Amino acid sequence: MTRLCRRRFVQGAAALGAAGASGLFAPPLLAQARREGGGGGSRLPPRGEFTIANVYVMTMDGTLGDIAGGAVHVKNGDIVAVGKDVKGGGQKIDGTGMIVMPGLIDTHWHMWNTLYRSFAGDKPEEGYFPTVARFGQQMMPSDIYASTHLAAAEAINSGMTFVHSWCHNVRSTEHAEADVRALAETGIRARHSCGWPQGMPDTQSADQAPLETLARDWKSRSNEGLLQLGMAWRGQFRGGPIKPEVYQPEIDNARKLGVPITVHAGSAKKAVNQIEPLSRAKCLGKDVQVIHAVSASDAELDMLKEAGASVSVSPGTELRTGFGYPQISEMVAKGIPLGISVDTSALTGSSNLFAALKLARDSENARALSEFKFPARRALELGTIGGARAMGIDDKVGSLVPGKRADLIAISPNALNMAVVTDPAHLVLEATGPENVDTVVVDGRILKRGGKLTAIDTQKVVADARQALAGVRERTKWR
Ligand SMILES: [Zn+2]
Repeated sequence: MTRLCRRRFVQGAAALGAAGASGLFAPPLLAQARREGGGGGSRLPPRGEFTIANVYVMTMDGTLGDIAGGAVHVKNGDIVAVGKDVKGGGQKIDGTGMIVMPGLIDTHWHMWNTLYRSFAGDKPEEGYFPTVARFGQQMMPSDIYASTHLAAAEAINSGMTFVHSWCHNVRSTEHAEADVRALAETGIRARHSCGWPQGMPDTQSADQAPLETLARDWKSRSNEGLLQLGMAWRGQFRGGPIKPEVYQPEIDNARKLGVPITVHAGSAKKAVNQIEPLSRAKCLGKDVQVIHAVSASDAELDMLKEAGASVSVSPGTELRTGFGYPQISEMVAKGIPLGISVDTSALTGSSNLFAALKLARDSENARALSEFKFPARRALELGTIGGARAMGIDDKVGSLVPGKRADLIAISPNALNMAVVTDPAHLVLEATGPENVDTVVVDGRILKRGGKLTAIDTQKVVADARQALAGVRERTKWR
């Protein structure tokens, strides 16, 4: 955990306070992208070379720390230099007044059901699970595409540069391909974890054909390595226990293919004793991410740590559904690789990860009955370098260090909801909304600039999602 003294915060705040920036200029690249035509990566802006200067840099690196009046030099997707006396090169971008930090890392998000944003109601029969199960069974590949495309656009707009698309509505290979295509076309860095179809009986093993098809030629689908492939696993418990002869072939196949595995376990405080059976069946390991683990006992947390498994917690949905408080402090204390996640827009509405990180901090302080239990900076670490470690990508991203890939954001604190600048870490955690994210860079490509997405037609994304939802509702004949 990075520890920086208060004095440095205050110096940074003074530097920021003198500023009056108004966006990092330049027209959207969308028109140019449209002229170039084509699909997938060909519509994305070029990587090029640029230097963002005169900014307050929160590197989220233990050695480099925060740099007031700093600059970040990016070339061909690499971070070339970060610091106060950076010579720089390429296009000069004056970021006076801005805070530059690594892009946020989401670690589990059912992007395929963003169509049902805030659709989970106030009665049990209108809750999240029956809603998405019923609508999900009527989804065509084009609906998955529209939903994930909307989610990925929202992710970039709100400052996420990595998302984990937890796709547990793979009704055919085409459904999985639609999810991957939606991710690739936005230029975001992501993992697609290929799952099973909604409504599948717990007595049946998931069809392995979609995962095997994707794995066979993943390199060509990976958008030059920006996308990884994983397996979204039902695990040992859904409505009730699932038999070993049903779940074992699924996990065996993922391990044969060498893809990472992700599974929900101990999701609610009342769902006890679900980690220990995973451990006993040798279903934990460095290749396994466990979602929620709200109910994990101290002994079960030790099992996660010993196995090298990572955990993703989703304070937004865990609190919203009454699953219970996440055990963030306990997991951090044990050294379990931990990331924070959106989970699902059907429950959280907005998928702003800054808001989820703030909830993570707040829920720890609430449990401890202390204003000081969980520092703001530690929460930001969970959303950046910590999340990157949990997803196994911290060698590439998660902090602003020369040699890493350039996944970064610039936040403008000049709007009414962020002025005035005080302590940068607290301000960023507590006040940042999507509208404050001025610039988003993924792998050296500028995907948002001056508060506008450069390569995504947002009106079309929204219209497509509306149309897809209308079709699903029509076919479902429900509400
Ligand atoms: Zn989930």
